[in-house]
Amino acid sequence: MKKERTRTLTRTVTLSDRTCPICRKRFEGWGKQQFCSKLCSNKAAYARHAEAYRAHRREKYHAEKKVAAGKK
Ligand SMILES: [Zn+2]
Repeated sequence: MKKERTRTLTRTVTLSDRTCPICRKRFEGWGKQQFCSKLCSNKAAYARHAEAYRAHRREKYHAEKKVAAGKK
């Protein structure tokens, strides 16, 4: 059986006005927060590795094409 507990945590954080570099939305962030949402931080992470992702996809595409050609 899973027990759940609600924890109340009071923390004082300094919020500051920031602009999300991905969607240009203004939001209040704290600490090292750079993006307005998880979605934007994911997008940024993707963009940072975009070339690696593309290279990987390209490789896969060619490998699949080869297999398809071999079937003929
Ligand atoms: Zn954003």
